[in-house]
Amino acid sequence: MPGLMRTLRMLRGARLVDGTLVDVRLEGDLVAAVTPATPLTTITELELELSGFLLITAPAEPHAHLDKARSWDAAEPPFGDLVKAVESWRAFSATETEDGIYQRALAQATAMVQAGTTAIRSHVDLLGDPDPLRGVRALLRVKERLAGLLDLQLVALGGEWTPDAVFEAALDVGVDIMGGVPHLAEDPIGELRRNVALADRLGVPMDLHTDESLDGPLTIREYARLVRGRAQPAAAGHCVRLGTLPAEELADVVAEIAAADLGIISLPITNLYLQGWEHPVSTPRGLTALRALLDAGVRVGAGADNVRDPFNPVGRGDALETASLLVTAGHLDLFEALRAVTDGARSVMSLPPAGPTAGARAELLAVRAESIGDAIATGSVDRYVIHKGRLIAQSHVVQELALPALETVEVAS
Ligand SMILES: [Zn+2]
Repeated sequence: MPGLMRTLRMLRGARLVDGTLVDVRLEGDLVAAVTPATPLTTITELELELSGFLLITAPAEPHAHLDKARSWDAAEPPFGDLVKAVESWRAFSATETEDGIYQRALAQATAMVQAGTTAIRSHVDLLGDPDPLRGVRALLRVKERLAGLLDLQLVALGGEWTPDAVFEAALDVGVDIMGGVPHLAEDPIGELRRNVALADRLGVPMDLHTDESLDGPLTIREYARLVRGRAQPAAAGHCVRLGTLPAEELADVVAEIAAADLGIISLPITNLYLQGWEHPVSTPRGLTALRALLDAGVRVGAGADNVRDPFNPVGRGDALETASLLVTAGHLDLFEALRAVTDGARSVMSLPPAGPTAGARAELLAVRAESIGDAIATGSVDRYVIHKGRLIAQSHVVQELALPALETVEVAS
């Protein structure tokens, strides 16, 4: 196996999503040139041979909850909707220590890096007294531990029960972004205004959980109005209610989202699990209005959200799993789906462009696949992960099958 953490200068014979075979030259943390593949002779230490692999922008995860990840078995929550999940998480998290959160979060973040994700935005709960910042400290330790392998952004997640001073304390110790859940408040618009006012006062980006229900309040129009023209970027996750609006109203709201340049983050696996329990027949999927948003030119990313916690008992945190759900549940085409978990996700996270394009950041994932459809459908574990121009992870699969040599079938003409 090639040695890890070495700087690469050339990737040889990779396939791009348009099917072309290329050589990719790297310079430091940038892609310097992408040229037609040349016949392979010998491979040096600075090169990586990628025949049989599809080369894509390394996935970015725009909405994780690393502090909650992998708590399903210990929390023993009931199956059910968002309200049940919130109650269950509250009870479990009251018993969790900084070290317990750190261990679960590190395990999940590590698995995501191994699968090719080189940037994660994780929300982190501001917990109850006496130590509301123990989750924050745990995730800051994960950030430090994985420095050099992962760009980790943290979002302070509190609700109407969280005092301004606790948000401020989280941002003071190293959390990057103001979060919130205004749709769960007694007064959703009032809580939204408090979130925006606090973020404005502190001069930080925003990323709110927004309208995560099929028939609850619609706050996203007011959110778009409040952040229009704002110096710092803003994003909205879930936006389930937006996906239920009739066409005419939807067009109006989407136009305001586009005018405000509010980034939208779709989270199919959690929406599919948490939404629709009250509809046993023709159960709605709960995803946001993906087609209308893309058609309007809104920046759209997608993520894996909850992984094996009270909000979703399954999931791998693998961007190719999310892309597959965007195709089947969201009706995006293969290219749109892959873009949402790579370039689109980087855009809503305010990260610079990356991928196999001259001048872009050398954040790359090579996955064993013959085509984009093959990659999304099979999600092969056979992968190479490149972060800042260096090989940081690789996985090689060995498969054996006791099948005699395949016989040649005569086709009757
Ligand atoms: Zn979330």
